[in-house]
Amino acid sequence: MGRSFALAQRLSKLPPYLFVEIDRLKQEAIRRGMDIINLGIGDPDLPTPPHIVRRMQEAAADRRNHQYPSYEGMLSFRQAAAEWYGKRFGVTLDPETEVLSLIGSKEGIGHTPLAFVDPGDVVLIPDPGYPVYQAGTIFAEGVPHFMPLTQQGGFLPDFRAIPADVLRKARILFLNYPNNPTATVAPGTFFAEAVAFARKHGLILCHDAAYSEMAFDGYLPESLLAVEGAKEVAIEYHSLSKTYNMTGWRIGFAVGCREVLAGLGRIKTNLDSGVFQAVQEAAIAALKGPQDCVDEMRATYRERRDALVDGLSALGFAVNRPKATFYVWIGVPKGHTSASFASALLSGIGIVMTPGTGFGRHGEGFVRAALTVDVPRIREAVQRIAASNLKPQ
Ligand SMILES: *Cc1c(COP(=O)(O)O)cnc(C)c1O
Repeated sequence: MGRSFALAQRLSKLPPYLFVEIDRLKQEAIRRGMDIINLGIGDPDLPTPPHIVRRMQEAAADRRNHQYPSYEGMLSFRQAAAEWYGKRFGVTLDPETEVLSLIGSKEGIGHTPLAFVDPGDVVLIPDPGYPVYQAGTIFAEGVPHFMPLTQQGGFLPDFRAIPADVLRKARILFLNYPNNPTATVAPGTFFAEAVAFARKHGLILCHDAAYSEMAFDGYLPESLLAVEGAKEVAIEYHSLSKTYNMTGWRIGFAVGCREVLAGLGRIKTNLDSGVFQAVQEAAIAALKGPQDCVDEMRATYRERRDALVDGLSALGFAVNRPKATFYVWIGVPKGHTSASFASALLSGIGIVMTPGTGFGRHGEGFVRAALTVDVPRIREAVQRIAASNLKPQ
């Protein structure tokens, strides 16, 4: 008999893993020999562009890169990030104090509450949303307050709906546009409203911009830091993961308010030792090199988006054509919940989509499709739905 070790209570405070049922159904369908079309996971199916891989290969062989890196990132990497930011968004950053390297933006998001949240402090979190905002809050013994993103509300939080007593205890406000999972983009004045709200209530505004480059039809998302005065209260998380198909490499960066970055940096010096310098060299090559790969990435997802949205719209589904992200947020047919529809898609016709409730209570009524398979497979998925009883009546 082995000993049993009780898990810390903070782990039991995390929401239940809602994909257990989907994972089980997927294994069962695979056992039955079903051909699975996986639109479940937000991980690009395309490889990292070759010039970035080559730079990594050279840099990995250089012994100067074999020792501990600095926790805040090589100055050359932070300069490349600042330069890219200036060119792309017209935002000026001091690479020494206003840029911090991250081991993927997930790491920075998860660690930020540890620097600024005391037990009982509130963190304002979009629902549905990327699960890490909540996990980081719980690990810091903070209290999540969920801001519903509803269709009627344009999938934007209603700041006026946050009760005054909650707001008094709030320290951090998380936002994410272009948004995962709803695929919504922030309208013109929204970032300015968010900055004004954060300033008024003394909140740290943390904006997750992982999808800033994955946008279509000529639309280019802006930086929240472009708002006047934003740098006094806000940081923005950036990731090379989605822009350059680098999810496995683990590199991103946070930019903006130096005081907030210094706090996050203090957590990081005590917990991690930065990003492998060869990976930082590869990231510099990505940020400073030719950007045709980004245009190609956009063209690929736009084509896939149109194949899925046109197909589902023709079948009568409630679905918008997203201007950004590689997700499509699909209203489930009448008579279904998110979970029942996702289960029926999987066990009935071998299509994996993620139930909206996996991202929070207000994801009910939707499933999320990730555009991570090619156009012929997307057409095949639409055909299977068309031939099934899973389309709106
Ligand atoms: C993919 C994703 C990230 C982060 O990815 P990293 O690989 O950790 O940089 C962050 N936020 C959202 C909303 C994402 O979907």
